[in-house]
Amino acid sequence: MTHEAGIPLGIRFRLLSDTPQDSAAQVVNDVVVGDYRDLETLRAFARGCDVITFDHEHVPIEHLRALEKDGIAVRPGPDALVHAQDKGVMRARLDALGVPCPRHRIVTDPQDVAAFAAELARDTGNGSDGFPVVLKTVRGGYDGKGVWVVRSVEEAAEPFRAGVPVLAEEKVDFVRELAANVVRSPHGQAVAYPVVESRQVNGVCDTVIAPAPDLDEDLALRAEEMALRIAKELGVVGHLAVELFQTRDGRVLVNELAMRPHNSGHWSMDGAITSQFANHLRAVLDLPLGDPRPRARWTVMANVLGGDYPDMYSAYLHCMARDPRLKIHMYGKDVKPGRKVGHVNTYGDDLDDVLERARHAADYLRGTITE
Ligand code: ADP
Repeated sequence: MTHEAGIPLGIRFRLLSDTPQDSAAQVVNDVVVGDYRDLETLRAFARGCDVITFDHEHVPIEHLRALEKDGIAVRPGPDALVHAQDKGVMRARLDALGVPCPRHRIVTDPQDVAAFAAELARDTGNGSDGFPVVLKTVRGGYDGKGVWVVRSVEEAAEPFRAGVPVLAEEKVDFVRELAANVVRSPHGQAVAYPVVESRQVNGVCDTVIAPAPDLDEDLALRAEEMALRIAKELGVVGHLAVELFQTRDGRVLVNELAMRPHNSGHWSMDGAITSQFANHLRAVLDLPLGDPRPRARWTVMANVLGGDYPDMYSAYLHCMARDPRLKIHMYGKDVKPGRKVGHVNTYGDDLDDVLERARHAADYLRGTITE
């Protein structure tokens, strides 16, 4: 999708891909298949590139520092990206900036989790034992993998098996999840997309509504300002998604950061004047940024999770005929149960109607409904 946004600008891509089957490898013609964890592979790949950017945050920070030393422009740079890669580093930095987050602590073993839960229980004074507690591996998680909700010290053993540091967090009793998406250029120009509501099913983003319905204007403004401030303080270049919890008492807490085009911004491909992909590219190339405002009153994005529907043609016939405003984006991935294989965007003036059309299309493309 970033490549698609680069076509009208004549931007040429070279892609480092795990396999020749990756979605981007199917559309970019200069593809290097290799391991992003290997410095020499990265060095050979980067030679001749003007700028390097990412569609995931897992390239080792020390390798990115080495590339910068070689004179390669890495955007976002390693000093920013580390906050999207390591949840422990991110929490410590946000604490230092005074950005509200869930209560948290790095924990070393299940007994330490119990001590953290006891602390939470003491502070709330509601007579509970402090559980449930959320445990997260500090690195390598995505789509809810690497996140556990544990209800007892016995359940707390599993996250420590991977041998990586574990972050414990209070389980926030949120009313909903929001995301504040901003884009910042090396010049320091920045734009904010409207704050969106992101609905998760089993830890995976299912639907995004832009803008978040019934969001208090002050709270929306505070969330946008917070995201812009985080982008500036962390020196982010490109797209920054700040995932948020909206609490019952009208606050927003930061859940996590992503420094790349993000699922919560996919609506912008069809719903904003400038998409997150176009603005991410403009930012990493230090071009002036585009207008992030919405084109329609409501845009809804629904993810298509892989069902078993290998032939999409008849599904396209149905969906396109039913909703002429529907935009379908399929990623060319092998269809596997539960895997994000595409998304749809649709828009209009009546939120219930837009939600129904998006939901219907996503379910139909998934094969869970047939009419
Ligand atoms: P990932 O890296 O997999 O995206 P997240 O930290 O975003 O992991 O967590 C995945 C989901 O788990 C969140 O979207 C949210 O629904 C839930 N979650 C994460 N942290 C907490 C928390 N502290 N309290 C309540 N729910 C949480």
